[in-house]
Amino acid sequence: MLDRLESSETIHALFGGTFDPIHYGHLKPVEALAHEIGLQHITLLPNHVPPHRPQPEAKVQQRLQMVELAIAGNPLFSVDERELHRTAPSYTIDTLEEIRREKGENLPLAFIIGQDSLLTLHYWHRWQSLLDYCHLLVCARPGYADTLDTPELESWLAAHRTTDANILKQQPNGLIYLAHTPLLDISATDIRQRKRDGLSLDDLLPPTVQRYIEQQGLYR
Ligand code: ATP
Repeated sequence: MLDRLESSETIHALFGGTFDPIHYGHLKPVEALAHEIGLQHITLLPNHVPPHRPQPEAKVQQRLQMVELAIAGNPLFSVDERELHRTAPSYTIDTLEEIRREKGENLPLAFIIGQDSLLTLHYWHRWQSLLDYCHLLVCARPGYADTLDTPELESWLAAHRTTDANILKQQPNGLIYLAHTPLLDISATDIRQRKRDGLSLDDLLPPTVQRYIEQQGLYR
Protein backbone atom coordinates (compact mmCIF):
# COMPACT_ATOMS: atom_id res chain seq x y z
CA MET A 1 0.00 0.00 0.00
CA LEU A 2 2.96 2.31 0.38
CA ASP A 3 3.93 2.50 -3.29
CA ARG A 4 4.62 6.02 -4.50
CA LEU A 5 1.84 7.59 -6.57
CA GLU A 6 1.84 10.38 -9.09
CA SER A 7 2.09 13.69 -7.25
CA SER A 8 -1.05 14.97 -8.98
CA GLU A 9 -3.21 12.67 -6.81
CA THR A 10 -5.63 14.39 -4.49
CA ILE A 11 -6.20 13.42 -0.88
CA HIS A 12 -9.55 12.17 0.35
CA ALA A 13 -9.72 13.94 3.71
CA LEU A 14 -12.11 13.03 6.52
CA PHE A 15 -12.78 14.99 9.69
CA GLY A 16 -14.60 13.14 12.47
CA GLY A 17 -16.23 14.71 15.50
CA THR A 18 -19.21 14.80 17.80
CA PHE A 19 -20.07 18.28 16.55
CA ASP A 20 -22.32 19.05 19.55
CA PRO A 21 -22.37 21.71 18.13
CA ILE A 22 -20.05 22.24 15.15
CA HIS A 23 -18.12 25.51 15.60
CA TYR A 24 -15.44 27.74 14.08
CA GLY A 25 -12.77 25.85 16.06
CA HIS A 26 -13.64 22.93 13.78
CA LEU A 27 -14.21 24.81 10.54
CA LYS A 28 -11.49 27.46 10.40
CA PRO A 29 -8.44 25.29 11.21
CA VAL A 30 -9.45 22.65 8.66
CA GLU A 31 -10.10 25.32 6.02
CA ALA A 32 -6.60 26.64 6.72
CA LEU A 33 -5.28 23.08 6.55
CA ALA A 34 -6.91 22.65 3.12
CA HIS A 35 -5.09 25.77 1.99
CA GLU A 36 -1.80 24.72 3.60
CA ILE A 37 -1.55 21.32 1.95
CA GLY A 38 -3.84 21.71 -1.05
CA LEU A 39 -6.89 19.66 -0.07
CA GLN A 40 -9.71 20.01 -2.59
CA HIS A 41 -12.37 18.62 -0.32
CA ILE A 42 -13.06 17.64 3.29
CA THR A 43 -15.73 15.16 4.34
CA LEU A 44 -17.16 15.70 7.81
CA LEU A 45 -17.94 12.49 9.63
CA PRO A 46 -20.22 13.02 12.65
CA ASN A 47 -19.72 10.31 15.29
CA HIS A 48 -22.11 7.80 16.66
CA VAL A 49 -21.40 8.12 20.38
CA PRO A 50 -21.38 4.75 22.17
CA PRO A 51 -23.97 4.43 24.97
CA HIS A 52 -21.31 3.96 27.66
CA ARG A 53 -19.73 7.37 26.88
CA PRO A 54 -21.15 10.75 27.91
CA GLN A 55 -23.94 11.36 25.41
CA PRO A 56 -24.14 14.45 23.19
CA GLU A 57 -26.81 16.89 24.36
CA ALA A 58 -28.20 17.38 20.85
CA LYS A 59 -29.93 14.46 19.14
CA VAL A 60 -28.34 12.77 16.14
CA GLN A 61 -30.63 14.63 13.71
CA GLN A 62 -29.87 17.95 15.39
CA ARG A 63 -26.11 17.42 15.26
CA LEU A 64 -26.41 16.49 11.60
CA GLN A 65 -28.64 19.49 10.85
CA MET A 66 -26.11 21.82 12.49
CA VAL A 67 -23.29 20.34 10.39
CA GLU A 68 -25.39 20.79 7.24
CA LEU A 69 -26.21 24.40 8.11
CA ALA A 70 -22.55 25.15 8.87
CA ILE A 71 -21.30 23.89 5.49
CA ALA A 72 -24.23 25.01 3.30
CA GLY A 73 -22.93 26.72 0.18
CA ASN A 74 -19.29 25.89 0.95
CA PRO A 75 -18.01 23.51 -1.75
CA LEU A 76 -14.98 22.56 0.37
CA PHE A 77 -17.17 20.44 2.63
CA SER A 78 -19.63 17.59 2.51
CA VAL A 79 -20.97 15.27 5.20
CA ASP A 80 -20.81 11.49 5.42
CA GLU A 81 -23.66 10.26 7.63
CA ARG A 82 -22.65 6.60 7.80
CA GLU A 83 -21.66 6.49 11.48
CA LEU A 84 -24.89 8.23 12.55
CA HIS A 85 -27.07 5.64 10.87
CA ARG A 86 -25.42 2.66 12.49
CA THR A 87 -27.43 0.86 15.12
CA ALA A 88 -24.25 -0.11 16.96
CA PRO A 89 -21.34 2.25 17.55
CA SER A 90 -18.24 1.65 15.51
CA TYR A 91 -14.65 2.60 16.02
CA THR A 92 -12.93 5.14 13.78
CA ILE A 93 -10.65 2.41 12.51
CA ASP A 94 -13.64 0.35 11.32
CA THR A 95 -14.96 3.32 9.35
CA LEU A 96 -11.54 3.98 7.87
CA GLU A 97 -11.24 0.32 6.88
CA GLU A 98 -14.63 0.53 5.17
CA ILE A 99 -13.78 3.76 3.33
CA ARG A 100 -10.42 2.34 2.28
CA ARG A 101 -12.26 -0.65 0.76
CA GLU A 102 -14.59 1.70 -1.11
CA LYS A 103 -11.84 3.98 -2.42
CA GLY A 104 -9.35 1.28 -3.37
CA GLU A 105 -5.74 0.83 -2.27
CA ASN A 106 -4.09 3.75 -3.99
CA LEU A 107 -6.05 6.87 -3.14
CA PRO A 108 -4.35 8.96 -0.45
CA LEU A 109 -6.75 8.98 2.49
CA ALA A 110 -6.34 11.28 5.50
CA PHE A 111 -8.07 11.61 8.84
CA ILE A 112 -7.97 15.04 10.47
CA ILE A 113 -7.75 15.45 14.25
CA GLY A 114 -6.99 18.29 16.65
CA GLN A 115 -3.89 18.38 18.87
CA ASP A 116 -5.96 17.29 21.90
CA SER A 117 -6.95 14.11 20.08
CA LEU A 118 -3.32 13.38 19.20
CA LEU A 119 -2.39 13.57 22.89
CA THR A 120 -4.90 10.83 23.74
CA LEU A 121 -4.68 8.78 20.58
CA HIS A 122 -3.21 5.80 22.42
CA TYR A 123 -6.66 5.29 24.01
CA TRP A 124 -8.26 4.78 20.60
CA HIS A 125 -9.13 1.26 19.49
CA ARG A 126 -6.20 -0.23 17.50
CA TRP A 127 -4.58 3.19 17.33
CA GLN A 128 -1.33 1.93 15.88
CA SER A 129 -3.21 0.47 12.92
CA LEU A 130 -4.83 3.78 11.95
CA LEU A 131 -1.90 4.53 9.66
CA ASP A 132 -2.49 1.28 7.78
CA TYR A 133 -5.52 2.99 6.27
CA CYS A 134 -4.80 6.71 6.22
CA HIS A 135 -2.50 9.58 7.01
CA LEU A 136 -3.20 11.62 10.13
CA LEU A 137 -3.36 15.39 9.76
CA VAL A 138 -3.19 17.21 13.07
CA CYS A 139 -4.53 20.75 13.55
CA ALA A 140 -3.03 22.92 16.27
CA ARG A 141 -5.31 23.65 19.23
CA PRO A 142 -4.56 26.15 21.99
CA GLY A 143 -4.38 24.94 25.57
CA TYR A 144 -2.89 21.55 24.72
CA ALA A 145 0.76 20.57 25.03
CA ASP A 146 2.71 20.23 21.81
CA THR A 147 4.84 17.48 23.24
CA LEU A 148 3.55 13.99 23.97
CA ASP A 149 4.25 12.59 27.40
CA THR A 150 3.53 9.00 26.42
CA PRO A 151 6.77 7.36 25.21
CA GLU A 152 4.93 4.87 22.99
CA LEU A 153 3.03 7.64 21.25
CA GLU A 154 6.14 9.81 21.04
CA SER A 155 8.18 7.15 19.25
CA TRP A 156 5.27 6.28 16.97
CA LEU A 157 4.97 9.94 16.02
CA ALA A 158 8.72 10.22 15.41
CA ALA A 159 8.65 7.13 13.18
CA HIS A 160 5.82 8.38 10.98
CA ARG A 161 6.00 12.15 11.05
CA THR A 162 6.62 14.12 7.89
CA THR A 163 7.04 17.85 7.52
CA ASP A 164 6.72 17.61 3.74
CA ALA A 165 3.07 18.07 2.78
CA ASN A 166 3.78 17.04 -0.84
CA ILE A 167 4.60 13.49 0.22
CA LEU A 168 1.08 13.08 1.61
CA LYS A 169 -0.24 13.06 -1.94
CA GLN A 170 2.32 10.56 -3.11
CA GLN A 171 1.44 7.67 -0.85
CA PRO A 172 -1.97 6.40 0.25
CA ASN A 173 -1.40 6.16 4.02
CA GLY A 174 1.18 5.89 6.79
CA LEU A 175 2.23 9.47 7.61
CA ILE A 176 1.50 12.03 10.32
CA TYR A 177 1.56 15.72 9.48
CA LEU A 178 1.37 18.42 12.15
CA ALA A 179 -0.19 21.44 10.49
CA HIS A 180 0.50 25.12 11.13
CA THR A 181 -3.15 26.04 11.40
CA PRO A 182 -4.48 29.07 13.31
CA LEU A 183 -5.17 28.66 17.01
CA LEU A 184 -8.83 29.04 17.91
CA ASP A 185 -9.69 28.76 21.56
CA ILE A 186 -13.20 27.39 20.99
CA SER A 187 -14.76 24.17 22.27
CA ALA A 188 -18.25 22.71 22.09
CA THR A 189 -18.18 22.27 25.88
CA ASP A 190 -17.58 25.98 26.33
CA ILE A 191 -20.29 26.87 23.81
CA ARG A 192 -22.86 24.70 25.64
CA GLN A 193 -21.88 26.32 28.94
CA ARG A 194 -22.04 29.83 27.50
CA LYS A 195 -25.52 29.09 26.19
CA ARG A 196 -26.64 27.94 29.63
CA ASP A 197 -25.11 31.10 31.13
CA GLY A 198 -26.94 33.27 28.61
CA LEU A 199 -23.67 34.54 27.08
CA SER A 200 -23.19 35.48 23.44
CA LEU A 201 -22.13 32.80 20.94
CA ASP A 202 -21.18 35.39 18.31
CA ASP A 203 -17.91 34.61 16.52
CA LEU A 204 -17.85 31.08 17.95
CA LEU A 205 -20.02 29.38 15.33
CA PRO A 206 -21.90 30.28 12.14
CA PRO A 207 -25.03 32.47 12.60
CA THR A 208 -27.19 29.80 10.91
CA VAL A 209 -26.12 27.27 13.56
CA GLN A 210 -26.68 29.85 16.29
CA ARG A 211 -30.24 30.43 15.07
CA TYR A 212 -30.88 26.69 14.92
CA ILE A 213 -29.69 26.28 18.54
CA GLU A 214 -32.08 29.04 19.51
CA GLN A 215 -35.05 27.62 17.56
CA GLN A 216 -34.53 24.11 18.91
CA GLY A 217 -33.98 25.28 22.47
CA LEU A 218 -30.67 23.43 22.66
CA TYR A 219 -28.13 23.61 25.50
CA ARG A 220 -30.45 25.20 28.06
P1 ATP B 1 -16.27 18.91 23.29
O1 ATP B 1 -15.90 20.23 23.90
O2 ATP B 1 -17.74 18.57 23.40
O3 ATP B 1 -15.36 17.79 23.73
P2 ATP B 1 -14.92 19.67 20.82
O4 ATP B 1 -15.13 21.14 20.71
O5 ATP B 1 -13.57 19.20 21.28
O6 ATP B 1 -16.08 19.04 21.71
P3 ATP B 1 -15.31 17.52 18.93
O7 ATP B 1 -16.51 17.38 18.06
O8 ATP B 1 -15.17 16.57 20.07
O9 ATP B 1 -15.28 19.05 19.42
O10 ATP B 1 -13.98 17.52 18.07
C1 ATP B 1 -13.84 16.93 16.82
C2 ATP B 1 -12.41 17.12 16.36
O11 ATP B 1 -12.13 18.51 16.22
C3 ATP B 1 -11.36 16.56 17.33
O12 ATP B 1 -10.32 15.93 16.59
C4 ATP B 1 -10.84 17.81 18.02
O13 ATP B 1 -9.50 17.64 18.40
C5 ATP B 1 -10.97 18.86 16.93
N1 ATP B 1 -11.18 20.21 17.45
C6 ATP B 1 -12.25 20.64 18.17
N2 ATP B 1 -12.11 21.95 18.49
C7 ATP B 1 -10.93 22.35 17.98
C8 ATP B 1 -10.20 23.61 17.98
N3 ATP B 1 -10.67 24.68 18.61
N4 ATP B 1 -9.00 23.65 17.33
C9 ATP B 1 -8.51 22.55 16.71
N5 ATP B 1 -9.15 21.34 16.67
C10 ATP B 1 -10.33 21.24 17.30
